[in-house]
Amino acid sequence: MRLMKFELFRLIRENVRDLKPYSSARDEYVSDGSKMVFMDANESPYSNGVNRYPDPHQRQLKLLLAKRNSLSVENILLGNGSDEVLDLIFRAFCEPQKDNIITMPPTYGMYNVLAGINAIENREVLLTEKFELDVDKILSTVDKNTKLVLLCSPNNPTGNSFSVAHIETLLTNFQGLLVIDEAYIDFAGQKSWLNKLQQFPNLIVTRTFSKAYGMAGLRLGIGYASEDVIAILNRIKPPYNVNELTQRKAFKMLQNVNVMEEQIKEILEERDDLVQKLAHIKFIREIYPTDANFILVKVDDADRRYREILDSGVVVRNRSAQALCANTLRFTVGTPEENRSLLRLLNTL
Ligand SMILES: *Cc1c(COP(=O)(O)O)cnc(C)c1O
Repeated sequence: MRLMKFELFRLIRENVRDLKPYSSARDEYVSDGSKMVFMDANESPYSNGVNRYPDPHQRQLKLLLAKRNSLSVENILLGNGSDEVLDLIFRAFCEPQKDNIITMPPTYGMYNVLAGINAIENREVLLTEKFELDVDKILSTVDKNTKLVLLCSPNNPTGNSFSVAHIETLLTNFQGLLVIDEAYIDFAGQKSWLNKLQQFPNLIVTRTFSKAYGMAGLRLGIGYASEDVIAILNRIKPPYNVNELTQRKAFKMLQNVNVMEEQIKEILEERDDLVQKLAHIKFIREIYPTDANFILVKVDDADRRYREILDSGVVVRNRSAQALCANTLRFTVGTPEENRSLLRLLNTL
Protein backbone atom coordinates (compact mmCIF):
# COMPACT_ATOMS: atom_id res chain seq x y z
CA MET A 1 0.00 0.00 0.00
CA ARG A 2 1.21 3.46 -0.88
CA LEU A 3 1.41 5.41 2.36
CA MET A 4 1.81 8.91 0.96
CA LYS A 5 1.42 10.50 -2.42
CA PHE A 6 4.60 10.58 -4.49
CA GLU A 7 5.38 14.18 -5.40
CA LEU A 8 8.06 14.40 -8.03
CA PHE A 9 7.89 18.19 -8.15
CA ARG A 10 9.01 18.35 -4.53
CA LEU A 11 12.16 16.35 -5.31
CA ILE A 12 13.59 18.51 -8.11
CA ARG A 13 16.37 20.94 -7.28
CA GLU A 14 15.16 24.51 -7.48
CA ASN A 15 17.77 25.62 -10.04
CA VAL A 16 16.82 22.70 -12.29
CA ARG A 17 13.13 23.48 -11.98
CA ASP A 18 13.78 27.09 -13.06
CA LEU A 19 16.35 26.28 -15.73
CA LYS A 20 15.88 27.15 -19.37
CA PRO A 21 17.60 24.25 -21.19
CA TYR A 22 20.14 24.87 -23.94
CA SER A 23 18.52 24.73 -27.34
CA SER A 24 20.85 23.18 -29.91
CA ALA A 25 20.79 23.65 -33.67
CA ARG A 26 19.44 20.13 -33.97
CA ASP A 27 16.64 21.00 -31.51
CA GLU A 28 15.53 23.99 -33.52
CA TYR A 29 15.54 22.23 -36.87
CA VAL A 30 14.70 18.52 -36.75
CA SER A 31 15.45 16.77 -40.03
CA ASP A 32 12.51 14.88 -41.53
CA GLY A 33 14.83 13.02 -43.87
CA SER A 34 14.39 15.31 -46.86
CA LYS A 35 17.54 16.62 -48.49
CA MET A 36 18.48 19.96 -46.92
CA VAL A 37 21.53 22.19 -46.94
CA PHE A 38 22.78 22.56 -43.38
CA MET A 39 24.22 25.99 -42.68
CA ASP A 40 23.02 26.35 -39.09
CA ALA A 41 25.53 24.72 -36.73
CA ASN A 42 28.95 25.92 -37.89
CA GLU A 43 29.95 22.35 -38.75
CA SER A 44 32.40 21.50 -41.50
CA PRO A 45 30.58 20.90 -44.79
CA TYR A 46 33.05 18.17 -45.82
CA SER A 47 31.71 14.63 -45.29
CA ASN A 48 33.81 12.16 -43.32
CA GLY A 49 31.07 10.28 -41.46
CA VAL A 50 31.23 12.43 -38.34
CA ASN A 51 31.34 16.03 -39.58
CA ARG A 52 27.72 16.61 -38.49
CA TYR A 53 26.51 16.78 -34.87
CA PRO A 54 24.75 13.61 -33.70
CA ASP A 55 21.03 13.46 -32.94
CA PRO A 56 20.80 15.01 -29.44
CA HIS A 57 17.77 12.81 -28.66
CA GLN A 58 19.13 9.57 -30.19
CA ARG A 59 15.71 8.82 -31.67
CA GLN A 60 16.61 5.83 -33.86
CA LEU A 61 18.36 4.08 -31.03
CA LYS A 62 15.62 4.87 -28.52
CA LEU A 63 12.94 3.58 -30.90
CA LEU A 64 14.67 0.19 -31.01
CA LEU A 65 15.11 0.10 -27.22
CA ALA A 66 11.51 1.19 -26.69
CA LYS A 67 10.21 -1.57 -28.94
CA ARG A 68 12.44 -4.18 -27.32
CA ASN A 69 11.09 -3.29 -23.87
CA SER A 70 7.49 -2.34 -24.76
CA LEU A 71 8.01 1.22 -23.54
CA SER A 72 7.86 4.62 -25.18
CA VAL A 73 10.78 6.76 -26.30
CA GLU A 74 9.77 9.23 -23.57
CA ASN A 75 10.66 6.64 -20.91
CA ILE A 76 14.31 6.50 -22.03
CA LEU A 77 17.43 8.56 -21.31
CA LEU A 78 20.76 7.66 -22.90
CA GLY A 79 24.10 8.72 -21.49
CA ASN A 80 27.85 8.43 -21.88
CA GLY A 81 27.90 5.21 -19.82
CA SER A 82 25.55 4.59 -16.91
CA ASP A 83 27.98 6.70 -14.94
CA GLU A 84 26.65 9.77 -16.76
CA VAL A 85 23.04 8.65 -16.32
CA LEU A 86 23.61 8.31 -12.57
CA ASP A 87 25.42 11.64 -12.40
CA LEU A 88 22.47 13.37 -14.13
CA ILE A 89 20.10 11.83 -11.57
CA PHE A 90 22.23 13.26 -8.74
CA ARG A 91 22.42 16.68 -10.36
CA ALA A 92 18.69 16.89 -11.08
CA PHE A 93 17.45 15.90 -7.63
CA CYS A 94 20.15 16.30 -4.97
CA GLU A 95 20.95 19.72 -3.53
CA PRO A 96 24.69 19.87 -2.66
CA GLN A 97 25.51 20.21 1.08
CA LYS A 98 21.87 19.61 1.98
CA ASP A 99 20.35 16.43 0.57
CA ASN A 100 21.39 12.85 1.17
CA ILE A 101 21.22 9.46 -0.52
CA ILE A 102 21.25 5.93 0.87
CA THR A 103 23.43 3.11 -0.46
CA MET A 104 23.97 -0.41 0.79
CA PRO A 105 27.61 -1.56 0.88
CA PRO A 106 29.18 -3.73 -0.28
CA THR A 107 28.08 -2.36 -3.65
CA TYR A 108 29.23 -0.53 -6.78
CA GLY A 109 31.83 2.10 -5.83
CA MET A 110 30.60 4.76 -8.25
CA TYR A 111 27.56 5.65 -6.11
CA ASN A 112 29.78 6.88 -3.31
CA VAL A 113 32.12 8.68 -5.72
CA LEU A 114 29.18 10.47 -7.37
CA ALA A 115 27.87 11.48 -3.95
CA GLY A 116 31.30 12.93 -3.18
CA ILE A 117 31.58 14.79 -6.49
CA ASN A 118 28.13 16.29 -6.01
CA ALA A 119 28.68 17.08 -2.29
CA ILE A 120 25.81 14.86 -1.20
CA GLU A 121 25.87 12.93 2.07
CA ASN A 122 25.91 9.16 1.47
CA ARG A 123 24.17 7.30 4.31
CA GLU A 124 25.44 3.75 4.21
CA VAL A 125 23.26 0.91 5.47
CA LEU A 126 25.24 -2.33 5.27
CA LEU A 127 23.73 -5.42 3.69
CA THR A 128 23.13 -8.29 6.11
CA GLU A 129 25.74 -11.06 6.51
CA LYS A 130 23.87 -12.95 3.76
CA PHE A 131 24.16 -9.89 1.48
CA GLU A 132 20.44 -9.09 1.72
CA LEU A 133 18.79 -5.68 2.11
CA ASP A 134 18.07 -4.52 5.67
CA VAL A 135 14.79 -2.89 4.69
CA ASP A 136 13.75 -1.66 8.15
CA LYS A 137 17.12 -0.02 8.70
CA ILE A 138 17.03 1.61 5.26
CA LEU A 139 13.56 3.05 5.86
CA SER A 140 14.47 4.31 9.32
CA THR A 141 17.54 6.05 7.83
CA VAL A 142 15.37 8.09 5.43
CA ASP A 143 14.67 11.70 6.40
CA LYS A 144 13.08 14.63 4.60
CA ASN A 145 16.28 15.30 2.62
CA THR A 146 16.75 11.73 1.38
CA LYS A 147 16.28 12.05 -2.37
CA LEU A 148 17.65 8.75 -3.66
CA VAL A 149 18.09 5.16 -2.58
CA LEU A 150 20.52 3.42 -4.95
CA LEU A 151 20.73 -0.33 -5.22
CA CYS A 152 22.27 -2.71 -7.67
CA SER A 153 20.53 -5.99 -8.46
CA PRO A 154 22.23 -8.34 -9.25
CA ASN A 155 24.65 -6.63 -6.88
CA ASN A 156 28.29 -5.92 -7.66
CA PRO A 157 30.55 -7.30 -6.10
CA THR A 158 28.43 -9.89 -4.27
CA GLY A 159 26.65 -11.26 -7.37
CA ASN A 160 23.24 -11.94 -5.80
CA SER A 161 19.88 -10.43 -6.75
CA PHE A 162 17.81 -8.86 -3.98
CA SER A 163 14.45 -10.20 -2.87
CA VAL A 164 11.52 -8.90 -4.91
CA ALA A 165 9.48 -8.41 -1.72
CA HIS A 166 12.23 -6.27 -0.14
CA ILE A 167 12.53 -4.03 -3.18
CA GLU A 168 8.77 -3.69 -3.40
CA THR A 169 8.60 -2.63 0.25
CA LEU A 170 11.15 0.10 -0.49
CA LEU A 171 9.28 1.27 -3.59
CA THR A 172 6.04 1.44 -1.65
CA ASN A 173 7.31 3.20 1.44
CA PHE A 174 10.06 5.53 0.20
CA GLN A 175 8.88 8.92 -1.05
CA GLY A 176 12.10 9.70 -2.96
CA LEU A 177 13.44 7.97 -6.06
CA LEU A 178 14.59 4.36 -5.94
CA VAL A 179 17.32 3.68 -8.50
CA ILE A 180 17.79 0.03 -9.44
CA ASP A 181 21.05 -0.52 -11.33
CA GLU A 182 20.47 -3.50 -13.61
CA ALA A 183 23.92 -3.63 -15.19
CA TYR A 184 23.93 -7.44 -14.84
CA ILE A 185 20.23 -8.20 -15.41
CA ASP A 186 20.87 -10.10 -18.66
CA PHE A 187 22.71 -12.76 -16.68
CA ALA A 188 20.09 -13.01 -13.94
CA GLY A 189 17.42 -15.59 -13.25
CA GLN A 190 15.37 -12.81 -11.70
CA LYS A 191 13.08 -10.61 -13.79
CA SER A 192 13.83 -6.98 -14.58
CA TRP A 193 11.99 -4.17 -12.78
CA LEU A 194 11.35 -2.44 -16.11
CA ASN A 195 7.81 -3.73 -16.36
CA LYS A 196 7.00 -2.10 -12.98
CA LEU A 197 7.61 1.46 -14.18
CA GLN A 198 3.88 2.09 -14.61
CA GLN A 199 3.12 0.86 -11.12
CA PHE A 200 5.88 2.81 -9.35
CA PRO A 201 6.37 6.46 -10.37
CA ASN A 202 9.41 6.67 -8.05
CA LEU A 203 11.33 3.92 -9.87
CA ILE A 204 14.38 4.51 -12.10
CA VAL A 205 16.04 1.50 -13.75
CA THR A 206 19.54 1.88 -15.22
CA ARG A 207 21.15 -0.44 -17.73
CA THR A 208 24.39 -0.45 -19.66
CA PHE A 209 25.89 -1.63 -22.94
CA SER A 210 29.12 -2.37 -21.04
CA LYS A 211 28.51 -5.92 -19.80
CA ALA A 212 26.22 -8.46 -21.53
CA TYR A 213 26.01 -6.27 -24.64
CA GLY A 214 29.78 -6.50 -24.97
CA MET A 215 30.40 -2.82 -25.64
CA ALA A 216 32.20 -1.31 -22.64
CA GLY A 217 34.37 0.72 -25.01
CA LEU A 218 31.37 2.52 -26.51
CA ARG A 219 30.30 4.19 -23.24
CA LEU A 220 26.55 3.87 -23.50
CA GLY A 221 24.21 3.73 -20.53
CA ILE A 222 20.43 3.79 -20.30
CA GLY A 223 18.01 5.23 -17.76
CA TYR A 224 14.38 4.07 -17.83
CA ALA A 225 11.76 5.91 -15.80
CA SER A 226 8.40 7.70 -15.99
CA GLU A 227 8.03 10.33 -18.72
CA ASP A 228 8.11 13.03 -16.01
CA VAL A 229 11.43 11.87 -14.55
CA ILE A 230 13.01 11.49 -18.00
CA ALA A 231 11.80 14.96 -19.02
CA ILE A 232 13.61 16.44 -16.01
CA LEU A 233 16.85 14.61 -16.79
CA ASN A 234 16.63 15.70 -20.42
CA ARG A 235 16.56 19.33 -19.27
CA ILE A 236 20.06 19.10 -17.84
CA LYS A 237 21.87 16.60 -20.05
CA PRO A 238 24.66 17.93 -22.29
CA PRO A 239 23.00 18.35 -25.71
CA TYR A 240 25.22 15.94 -27.66
CA ASN A 241 26.14 13.51 -24.88
CA VAL A 242 26.02 10.35 -27.01
CA ASN A 243 28.33 10.59 -29.98
CA GLU A 244 27.56 9.60 -33.57
CA LEU A 245 29.82 6.52 -33.70
CA THR A 246 28.30 5.15 -30.50
CA GLN A 247 24.76 5.69 -31.74
CA ARG A 248 25.49 3.93 -35.02
CA LYS A 249 27.35 0.99 -33.52
CA ALA A 250 24.73 0.40 -30.81
CA PHE A 251 21.92 0.65 -33.39
CA LYS A 252 23.58 -1.98 -35.54
CA MET A 253 24.07 -4.34 -32.63
CA LEU A 254 20.44 -4.02 -31.54
CA GLN A 255 19.28 -5.00 -35.00
CA ASN A 256 21.06 -8.31 -34.58
CA VAL A 257 20.98 -9.40 -30.95
CA ASN A 258 21.42 -13.12 -31.71
CA VAL A 259 25.19 -12.98 -31.36
CA MET A 260 24.90 -11.33 -27.95
CA GLU A 261 22.25 -13.78 -26.80
CA GLU A 262 24.48 -16.72 -27.75
CA GLN A 263 27.35 -15.17 -25.82
CA ILE A 264 25.18 -14.73 -22.74
CA LYS A 265 24.15 -18.39 -22.93
CA GLU A 266 27.76 -19.48 -23.13
CA ILE A 267 28.81 -17.23 -20.24
CA LEU A 268 26.04 -18.66 -18.05
CA GLU A 269 27.07 -22.24 -18.83
CA GLU A 270 30.69 -21.37 -18.16
CA ARG A 271 29.77 -19.57 -14.94
CA ASP A 272 27.88 -22.57 -13.57
CA ASP A 273 30.73 -24.86 -14.58
CA LEU A 274 33.27 -22.57 -12.90
CA VAL A 275 31.23 -22.51 -9.69
CA GLN A 276 31.30 -26.33 -9.60
CA LYS A 277 35.01 -26.52 -10.19
CA LEU A 278 36.04 -23.70 -7.86
CA ALA A 279 34.55 -25.78 -5.05
CA HIS A 280 37.52 -28.15 -5.43
CA ILE A 281 40.21 -25.46 -5.05
CA LYS A 282 41.74 -26.00 -1.63
CA PHE A 283 42.26 -22.36 -0.62
CA ILE A 284 38.71 -21.27 -1.55
CA ARG A 285 36.58 -21.18 1.60
CA GLU A 286 33.26 -20.01 0.22
CA ILE A 287 31.64 -19.41 -3.17
CA TYR A 288 28.81 -16.90 -3.02
CA PRO A 289 25.65 -17.47 -5.10
CA THR A 290 25.77 -15.43 -8.32
CA ASP A 291 23.17 -14.07 -10.70
CA ALA A 292 25.79 -12.14 -12.72
CA ASN A 293 28.79 -12.79 -15.02
CA PHE A 294 31.23 -12.91 -12.12
CA ILE A 295 31.82 -15.00 -9.02
CA LEU A 296 32.81 -13.72 -5.58
CA VAL A 297 34.79 -16.19 -3.48
CA LYS A 298 36.27 -16.11 0.01
CA VAL A 299 39.82 -17.41 0.20
CA ASP A 300 42.38 -18.09 2.94
CA ASP A 301 44.52 -15.00 2.22
CA ALA A 302 43.24 -12.69 -0.52
CA ASP A 303 46.33 -10.47 -0.79
CA ARG A 304 48.60 -13.49 -1.22
CA ARG A 305 46.32 -15.29 -3.71
CA TYR A 306 45.70 -12.11 -5.70
CA ARG A 307 49.47 -11.63 -6.06
CA GLU A 308 50.08 -15.27 -7.04
CA ILE A 309 47.32 -15.20 -9.66
CA LEU A 310 48.58 -11.87 -11.03
CA ASP A 311 52.15 -13.19 -11.26
CA SER A 312 50.80 -15.94 -13.52
CA GLY A 313 49.31 -13.40 -15.90
CA VAL A 314 45.66 -13.33 -14.82
CA VAL A 315 44.09 -10.17 -13.41
CA VAL A 316 41.22 -10.70 -10.99
CA ARG A 317 39.73 -8.23 -8.52
CA ASN A 318 40.61 -8.20 -4.85
CA ARG A 319 37.46 -6.95 -3.08
CA SER A 320 38.79 -7.39 0.46
CA ALA A 321 38.64 -3.69 1.32
CA GLN A 322 34.86 -3.67 0.89
CA ALA A 323 32.52 -4.02 3.86
CA LEU A 324 31.66 -7.67 4.68
CA CYS A 325 34.11 -8.83 1.99
CA ALA A 326 37.31 -9.61 3.93
CA ASN A 327 39.53 -12.03 1.98
CA THR A 328 37.40 -12.09 -1.14
CA LEU A 329 38.35 -12.21 -4.81
CA ARG A 330 36.03 -11.55 -7.74
CA PHE A 331 36.45 -13.55 -10.96
CA THR A 332 34.81 -12.33 -14.17
CA VAL A 333 33.72 -15.24 -16.38
CA GLY A 334 35.89 -15.38 -19.50
CA THR A 335 35.90 -17.49 -22.65
CA PRO A 336 35.93 -21.29 -22.17
CA GLU A 337 39.71 -21.33 -22.77
CA GLU A 338 40.32 -18.46 -20.33
CA ASN A 339 38.25 -20.19 -17.65
CA ARG A 340 40.10 -23.47 -18.14
CA SER A 341 43.44 -21.75 -17.80
CA LEU A 342 42.27 -19.96 -14.65
CA LEU A 343 41.27 -23.31 -13.13
CA ARG A 344 44.57 -24.91 -14.16
CA LEU A 345 46.39 -22.06 -12.50
CA LEU A 346 44.33 -22.14 -9.30
CA ASN A 347 44.96 -25.88 -8.99
CA THR A 348 48.72 -25.29 -8.92
CA LEU A 349 48.60 -22.71 -6.09
C1 LIG B 1 29.95 -2.22 -14.75
C2 LIG B 1 28.84 -1.55 -14.03
C3 LIG B 1 28.17 -0.47 -14.59
C4 LIG B 1 28.55 0.04 -15.95
O1 LIG B 1 28.80 1.38 -15.97
P1 LIG B 1 29.05 2.06 -17.40
O2 LIG B 1 29.38 3.47 -17.05
O3 LIG B 1 27.76 1.94 -18.17
O4 LIG B 1 30.15 1.32 -18.07
C5 LIG B 1 27.11 0.08 -13.90
N1 LIG B 1 26.75 -0.38 -12.70
C6 LIG B 1 27.38 -1.42 -12.14
C7 LIG B 1 26.93 -1.92 -10.83
C8 LIG B 1 28.45 -2.03 -12.77
O5 LIG B 1 29.09 -3.05 -12.18
